[in-house]
Amino acid sequence: GYRKGGYHAARPGDRFAGGRFVAQRKLGWGNFSTVWLAYDTLHSRFVALKIQKSARDYAHAALHEIELLSAVAQGDPTNSKCVVRLLDHFKHVGPNGQHVCLITEFLGDSLLRLIRYNRNKGIGLRRVKEICRSLLVGLDYLHRELGIIHTDLKPENILLVSTINPAKDPVRSGFTPILDRPVGNQYGGTVISFSEKMLKMRARLAVAKISQRRVSLGGVAAEFEKERNLDGISLKCKIVDFGNACWADQQLAGEIQTRQYRAPEVIIGSGYSYSADMWSFACIAFELATGCSEDEDHLALMMETLGKMPRKISSSGTRSKDYFDRHGDLKRIRRLKFWPLDCVLVERYNFTESDAQGFADFLLPILDFTPENRPSAAQCLKHPWLN
Ligand code: ATP
Ligand code: MG
Ligand code: MG
Repeated sequence: GYRKGGYHAARPGDRFAGGRFVAQRKLGWGNFSTVWLAYDTLHSRFVALKIQKSARDYAHAALHEIELLSAVAQGDPTNSKCVVRLLDHFKHVGPNGQHVCLITEFLGDSLLRLIRYNRNKGIGLRRVKEICRSLLVGLDYLHRELGIIHTDLKPENILLVSTINPAKDPVRSGFTPILDRPVGNQYGGTVISFSEKMLKMRARLAVAKISQRRVSLGGVAAEFEKERNLDGISLKCKIVDFGNACWADQQLAGEIQTRQYRAPEVIIGSGYSYSADMWSFACIAFELATGCSEDEDHLALMMETLGKMPRKISSSGTRSKDYFDRHGDLKRIRRLKFWPLDCVLVERYNFTESDAQGFADFLLPILDFTPENRPSAAQCLKHPWLN
């Protein structure tokens, strides 16, 4: 990513837009950009700085995002429609090329993070309802008033409204902006005067401090983790990432959305509209309420076809406890419907009994839950099914 046409490598203390915005720390990234917390020296506030990759297609996508977000901001002067607010945009020239940059309001953790912090519980229906209300206000605004389809609704593109405002409440957030670029030893050999040395140390300290506070700054979910209690935390959220969004009457892409949130009409290519966003919305609400992830679904499907995973395997991972209880059963998904592979082939895919039996004999040893038991490619080549 960090090469010509790709991401811009920013560092804390870097200045943008003629010095107005100072990079603080990285908040996240996507396929198109890196997103930084930045300090706006003109208005003394923290903002989010999205630095797009520099290649032409990316620049084009960013300009498109600016066009849509400008319309969003224009139609919502009080900033109450649950969509991220665009504050400014400009170009930044760096070693990898020219990067379109967007300045938006600074928001908190994504719903993806919220779901992860709440693995065992789901977040409770009362809170699901609150989040649903915010999302529907946002979608109603985009769909009915603006004619925009988001096309990529998913938990990582929905951010909680940060309850900690580091600009207004630096004590609680434990954060003061870095304004100096940490002076590295990049000019090797140069004699540094005493005051420069001091400056360098102070800047280094600031960087160290910030990296320790990676999560807590604006981290609504992180705060929750600490307190094990979501009461008192506003569950307002906002829709972000308009890089793939479109005007309903100017659709460009045939294939939209991320797999797990993709509507059936998109899969079969029969055209789509605002209702494709509604499909994704329902998927997100389900995920929030059940706490159940695609990974867990995937494990359940494996076990329905291949039988229960041996305890030795299911308990051996660093994330085992996220998915399995101490009996080796899935924590959230109950009552698996066991349906062996040869039966699936006959009943669902219309194989003859003997074709199904032969093919299942070939595949099942390879689909062993215990990695060491799986035959190698060389061993598979000798299987009677192939010969
Ligand atoms: P994608 O690959 O999904 O298209 P992208 O490159 O377009 O991603 P965004 O989705 O806009 O980038 O942002 C990437 C991440 O940065 C988000 O998932 C979020 O974690 C963080 N982020 C984006 N905007 C903000 C903001 N306003 N406040 C705080 N964090 C943000
Ligand atoms: Mg994104
Ligand atoms: Mg995007």
